Amino acid sequence: MKDIFYGDFTQQEPISDEGIDAALAVLKHGRLHRYNETEGEVGETALLELEFAAQMGAKYCLAVASGGYALSTALRAVGVKPGDKVLTNVFTLAPVPGAIASIGAIPIFVGVTEGLVIDLKDLASKLDQADVLLLSHMRGHIVDMVALMKLTQAYGVTVIEDCAHTMGAKWDNVWSGRSGVIGCYSSQTYKHINSGEGGFLICDDDETMARAIILSGSYMIYGKHRAGPPTETFKELKLVTPNISGRMDNLRAAILRPQLRCLESQCEAWNERYRVVNSALAQVPGLTCVVRPHQEHFVASSYQFLLLDWSGDAICEILDATKSRGVELKWFGASNPVGFTSRYDSWEYAPSEPMPASDRVLHGIIDMRLPLTFSLDDCSTVARIICDEVSRAYRNTN
Ligand SMILES: *Cc1c(COP(=O)(O)O)cnc(C)c1O
Repeated sequence: MKDIFYGDFTQQEPISDEGIDAALAVLKHGRLHRYNETEGEVGETALLELEFAAQMGAKYCLAVASGGYALSTALRAVGVKPGDKVLTNVFTLAPVPGAIASIGAIPIFVGVTEGLVIDLKDLASKLDQADVLLLSHMRGHIVDMVALMKLTQAYGVTVIEDCAHTMGAKWDNVWSGRSGVIGCYSSQTYKHINSGEGGFLICDDDETMARAIILSGSYMIYGKHRAGPPTETFKELKLVTPNISGRMDNLRAAILRPQLRCLESQCEAWNERYRVVNSALAQVPGLTCVVRPHQEHFVASSYQFLLLDWSGDAICEILDATKSRGVELKWFGASNPVGFTSRYDSWEYAPSEPMPASDRVLHGIIDMRLPLTFSLDDCSTVARIICDEVSRAYRNTN
C-alpha cells in the first residue's frame, strides 16, 4: 500500500490565547494607530520595536506594513536613487527585485551556488557595478557572511540583508540581519512570526534609521519612537525626506509580541522537522541534499533539495506522482512562475544576462514548506513519499 499524506502545507499554527487577549485589548480601547497613545502610554508597536531591537542586539528597530515595504524603505534610507543599480540574488522571491524596481532602481542579479547561497565569485566580478547589495537569505540559506562582508567592504558596497526566512538564525554566532547596515524581516503569515502582513527594519546608524522612520510615515511624531535615534537626528532630515506611509499598527504588534518571546523554541521545532526530512532524503539516488556549513545556525521553516541535471519532463513526472499522494512540491525551474516560485527570466521588468551555472541549479530546486502544524511523523511520511517517487523515477531512467 502506498502512503498518502493528508496534511496541509500552507496551514500555520493558530494565534495563541496570549496573542488573542492582547489583540482584544487593543480592539477594546480602539487605539489601533501606532501614534495614538494616551498620556504616559507606550503603544504595542513601540513596545514591539523595543523588544525586537533588544532581542537582536540592535540599537534601533522600525516596524512597518510588510517585508517588501521594509526592503524598499531600506533601499531609500541608504540613498538608492532612481536609475541606480542594486546587486541582488538571482535565487530569491519576487518582492526582492520588486522592491528595487519600486524605487526606479535596476536589479543586477548575482548567481546562486549548489549550496543555494549567493555565488561569491560572481559577486566579486560585479561589485564594481553598484553601491548597494540587497542580500536575500532565500529560504533560510546563509552565505559565509565573514567572506561576504570582507568582499563588499573592499569595494565600499553597502549591504542590506533580506531576512524574511532567517529571523532567529545566525552565521557563526552573529544574528542574521546584524552584518549589513540594515536587516529587514517579514511577519507575513508564511514567515517565522505571523501577523498576516507586517515587517521590520533593524539598524545601528542614527541617520539611516531617522530617514527610515520619516519615510515610513511618522508625520512629525517621530519623538514617539522608543527604538529610534535621538530627536536631534531628525532636524536636518525631516524636510527633505518624503512621507511614504507604510506603518505597522497596534493590532498586529499586539499579536506579534508574544510570538517573539517564543521565537527560539519555534525555530528549534522547525529544525527538528528539517532533520527528520533531511536524514530520510540523504541517501536517495539522483537527489542532492543541500550541504549546510557548520557555522550556519539556520532556521528551516522550509526544505529544499536538488534534482540536478534531470530533464524538465522527468521533474514534472515526479511532481505529479508526489502530488497524487498529497505532497505538493514547488519547482523553481518551471517555465511559468507559479505561486511563490519564479525564475529571474520571468521578471521581465528587470532583464538579466543569461547565467548558465545558476540556471542549472535553479532548474533543479525543489521546495516545500514544513509548517509547525506537521508532526514529526507527518514529516517522515512526506519524506518517504518523496524518496519512493524519486527512487522510482531514477530506476526508470537509469
Ligand atoms: C516573503 C518575502 C519577502 C517579503 O515579505 P512580504 O512581507 O510578503 O512583503 C522578502 N523576501 C523574501 C525572500 C520573502 O520570502
